[in-house]
Amino acid sequence: MRETIRQIRASVVRGGGADYHDQAAAHWIVGQIATPMSFYPEYRASRTSFGIDALGTVVVEVEDEAGRVGIGLSTGGVPAAYLVAHHLNRFVVGREPSQRELIWDQMYRSSVFYGRKGLAVNAISAVDLALWDLFARQRDLPVYALLGGPTRVSLPCYATGPNPEWAVGEGFLGGKLPLVHGPAEGMEGLRANVERFRAARTAVGPDALLMLDCWMSLDLPYALRLVEELAPLGLYWIEEAFLPDDYWAYRELRRRLPPGVRLAAGEHEWTRYGFSLLLEFEAVDVLQPDVNWCGGLTELMRIAALADARGLPVIPHGSSVYSYHFAAARPHMPFSEFLMMHPTASAVVPMFAPLLLGEPVPEKGRVTLPDRPGFGVELNPAVARTEVE
Ligand SMILES: [Mg+2]
Repeated sequence: MRETIRQIRASVVRGGGADYHDQAAAHWIVGQIATPMSFYPEYRASRTSFGIDALGTVVVEVEDEAGRVGIGLSTGGVPAAYLVAHHLNRFVVGREPSQRELIWDQMYRSSVFYGRKGLAVNAISAVDLALWDLFARQRDLPVYALLGGPTRVSLPCYATGPNPEWAVGEGFLGGKLPLVHGPAEGMEGLRANVERFRAARTAVGPDALLMLDCWMSLDLPYALRLVEELAPLGLYWIEEAFLPDDYWAYRELRRRLPPGVRLAAGEHEWTRYGFSLLLEFEAVDVLQPDVNWCGGLTELMRIAALADARGLPVIPHGSSVYSYHFAAARPHMPFSEFLMMHPTASAVVPMFAPLLLGEPVPEKGRVTLPDRPGFGVELNPAVARTEVE
């Protein structure tokens, strides 16, 4: 009985960099990056201008009869917290965290009339991660051990941010640049994009990985022109070229990629159903589910099984320690992403700082996972949260 969940709490964190998209104006992550909103000049200079920070983080805590607490995070703020506190809670309280399959199925089926993707599944993800965390703490094991790992606990990483030169010097396998200019900025913008990539390639040398993240900003003609220009510069992959629902554009771009260039996508895709469409369309070379969004770890394992059956790599988007445990249990996974949360991407900073304590960060480009129980992280009591009731 002491393993029964007696309470689920949902709270939100706003301001002060407590959400990773909620940063001061000088931070690269809210600066000029090509987005679907780059068509509108007034929303071009900053991602906060169109509201990337509008929701903030939702924190879910599940507490058992013995007072142990599991923690899960997602993006979704007050609306996601409301779903947890007013809808999803009924499937959790009185159950045990070992019952994740039952709880997931009931959360998904009961919310499908308004959910399926986006915010509702983000909320499900946070609950699912909190259940994994609590279950692992009850067993006194790290999450990766419950997944059948470790296959290894030291994970090589690439660094996402505007400063791949620093990252490669630090020992990362390479870097992933955010694209700056979208198609609405014409040939001048395209030339600037190409020259920026060329400068990065010169700086990191010929052997480092160099990727380009387009954050859903392109159309097919522009993407084709871009990969043609960047292939000779050693573009390893182009990421999220189009809006996530345009499976047809992804399929066409992948068919027409120059040799050596890969197409990666999936950070804004949800559940096994969404990913099976990407696979059915043969739309990607690399799948990038975000475990904090795609349906949690329970759903990520299903997505990974689908990808395995097609022989495609799963390299999760961001999500720090939550995806590192998945990586540490995977037999085959080439490397992990590390999102550079330093304002100029020239120092290693934990992705979820200051919200979490104990988050492992790469040293010399590799993350080593501690064997603490659960995901091995705690909520920082110094970060103010507001509970949603
Ligand atoms: Mg991305």
